[in-house]
Amino acid sequence: MNASHDVLVVGGGLVGASLAIALDRLDLDVGLVEITPPGALPAVFDQRNLSLADASVNALTALDVMRHLRAPTGAIREIHASRKGDFGRVHMRAGDYGRQAFGQVVVARDFGEALEARLATLARLQRYRPARFLGASAGADGCTVRIDAEGGERVLHTRLLVGADGTRSGVRDALGIGAALHDYGQTLLVARVRAARAPHGVAWERLTDHGPTALLPRGDGHYGLVHGVPTADAEAVLGLDDAAFLARVQDILGWRAGRLVGVGARSAYPLQRVVADATVAPRAGLVGNAAQTLHPIGAQGFNLGLRDALVLAEAIAGHRGDAGAPSVLGTYAQRRQEDRARTLAFSDGLARLTSNPSALLRPLRSLGLLVLDADSGLQAQLAGGAMGYRGDVPALCRRSTP
Ligand SMILES: Cc1cc2nc3c(=O)[nH]c(=O)nc-3n(C[C@H](O)[C@H](O)[C@H](O)COP(=O)(O)OP(=O)(O)OC[C@H]3O[C@@H](n4cnc5c(N)ncnc54)[C@H](O)[C@@H]3O)c2cc1C
Repeated sequence: MNASHDVLVVGGGLVGASLAIALDRLDLDVGLVEITPPGALPAVFDQRNLSLADASVNALTALDVMRHLRAPTGAIREIHASRKGDFGRVHMRAGDYGRQAFGQVVVARDFGEALEARLATLARLQRYRPARFLGASAGADGCTVRIDAEGGERVLHTRLLVGADGTRSGVRDALGIGAALHDYGQTLLVARVRAARAPHGVAWERLTDHGPTALLPRGDGHYGLVHGVPTADAEAVLGLDDAAFLARVQDILGWRAGRLVGVGARSAYPLQRVVADATVAPRAGLVGNAAQTLHPIGAQGFNLGLRDALVLAEAIAGHRGDAGAPSVLGTYAQRRQEDRARTLAFSDGLARLTSNPSALLRPLRSLGLLVLDADSGLQAQLAGGAMGYRGDVPALCRRSTP
């Protein structure tokens, strides 16, 4: 028999799983389609370190996800940013903004396990896995969706179809929504690093001509390293032995965080920006990476995608009766416009400026860092964005954690 849902979410990654949890509070009939089989986590829940903005932590606490984390999170209480070869630096303390932390660092795998544990408590959620989204067509009262599930092709009906299926979104394609792609020519290497001194809540960011290198304070006493390199060099840097790799990173960071003494397995992520031309279509919406994939330099991708999910849930809650009504989608698209544009511009601008080796830009960049360090108003704006409290903030993000 063909199933019928109020909302069908395609993609059970970071944003799709969060959306399914947020929708459970609305007493709707929700389906979640995920290609990964039960017993395994989607591949995106890997060893990358996620910096969750303070506002996201509030929302994930309210959604009862944070309680399911088995490993301790790492609080970011201070941020030091500087640029190799330029004067100036920025030093921000969360305490100066009345907060205990800018956010928390979690390993994506641990976060995936917590989301999965929370999803398992949702009695009403219908999960389709392993199931691959094949296609969809919209009618007046909903979408007809085809999935390839175990046992063959199934046809589902839903009042609202949500594409949470990541950067190469099949839902986006099926809806006929185009996307603009930009290749940064950079690859981000990620690893766990141990320093002679424990992190103590400080995140170190060092910008170079080839992209950012940062140490994020993890909850396990290690740092989460992200190291941007030109894609053409990525293979060679990945192939360095541990001592040579650590020496390279130490040379970029200097001795700010102390001596780096150990490094774990490294993984590589080629960086692209993919921005959908629209976030809604009749009876359908896009959230998270399917709507926009950002350069991770500002650690904003999931934080922004979570706000997509929360605002969509709020729009649905505000228009009871038909989750896919044009008014729901209109509200969603309109409310997401500003945050989306601003966060894209911020991450993109940071990525381009910091990776631009032009000597002419150097004094400007140094001046920028000096001004930023001296101007508490500018810093407050930056801090507000980093913590997720700027603009039209979803209600769950505003709840303060104890
Ligand atoms: C190195 C790195 C570091 C990052 N650090 C941060 C950070 O510190 N803070 C932050 O906020 N963000 C960070 N991000 C960004 C963050 O990882 C993304 O924003 C986030 O993963 C987007 O979640 P999503 O659910 O939209 O997409 P994804 O996480 O990609 O999930 C998509 C899901 O859809 C499923 N799927 C795909 N196709 C189909 C199909 N046809 N049928 C069924 N299911 C399908 C996939 O299996 C997957 O589970 C980082 C990214 C990288 C690469």
